[in-house]
Amino acid sequence: MTSALFLGAGASPGVPSLSNGWGACNPNNPKNIRRRTSTLYEVNGVKILIDTSPDLRMQLLDNHITELDGICYTHAHSDHLYGIDELREINRITCKPLDVFATEVTMKEIKKRFSYLLLDKESEDFYFSKPGLLPHVIKPNHLFEINGIKIMPLKLLGHNMPTFGYIINDEIVHIADFKQFANSAWKHILQIKPKLLVLPLTIIEYHRYHIGLKEALEYIKILKPEKVVLNHMASECDYDFVNKHTPDNVEPAYDNLKIEW
Ligand SMILES: [Zn+2]
Ligand SMILES: [Zn+2]
Repeated sequence: MTSALFLGAGASPGVPSLSNGWGACNPNNPKNIRRRTSTLYEVNGVKILIDTSPDLRMQLLDNHITELDGICYTHAHSDHLYGIDELREINRITCKPLDVFATEVTMKEIKKRFSYLLLDKESEDFYFSKPGLLPHVIKPNHLFEINGIKIMPLKLLGHNMPTFGYIINDEIVHIADFKQFANSAWKHILQIKPKLLVLPLTIIEYHRYHIGLKEALEYIKILKPEKVVLNHMASECDYDFVNKHTPDNVEPAYDNLKIEW
């Protein structure tokens, strides 16, 4: 059994945002209230968290998430990383360090900003006053495993920082902030028929560092996944508007949306 739980469907400012309020979003639709992005995949009982949103504390509480098998980072922007301190509560419950996976460029940033969180080796004592994280540096196009679940890191292009996506268990393709897939990423995705493709929509119109709705629909047409979830949406993206302007197999994310198969 596999499930995807969208803990936060929002882009970096969240919805509503201080600067733009509800924007184009209908304030009467609760699906438009969006925390920042974290996604929990559970594959055959293995729990993999993608990114640690600044809203992670409430996301873990709301969904009674008390254990994780691994955390994979897409990039080091604050809306994807700065909830990293909240992982301490998982350490406290499980009394074990947590395995954290990121490419070299992302891990470097994590080390620079959060050096106090990272352990050198599993046997090292860690104190519950801070999270205990075991860093694992991964490479794009090099398969790794979390408790037997295969994960392929993908290189993404066009964001204003290097970003990475993941193919999980040959069935889920999770893509973070980007404009284009690297050729190598295309190659891997085209080898599978994704059951679930997760794309960051962010805005409707053109943006220099993000895809808009038109580009998202073009990718969906080529990749032909069974199901698509659009997440990472800013206040320009009203739930009903996005739903109306996308095919039936495409669903805009909302906080705590869960999909199982
Ligand atoms: Zn982002
Ligand atoms: Zn970003």
